[in-house]
Amino acid sequence: MKICSICGKTFEEYGNNAQPVNNGVCCDKCNLEIVVPRRIQDSINNKIKRR
Ligand SMILES: [Zn+2]
Repeated sequence: MKICSICGKTFEEYGNNAQPVNNGVCCDKCNLEIVVPRRIQDSINNKIKRR
């Protein structure tokens, strides 16, 4: 059993890297709803900075 570092709930699945939100692991729900959108936003921000 693991504890999601974002929502604090326990989960049984393998888990996902929670970066860049934090350094822990997160559940599939937080990965889809928080981590993935954050990565997309960060990649957009990086493109803007490189201009
Ligand atoms: Zn979670």
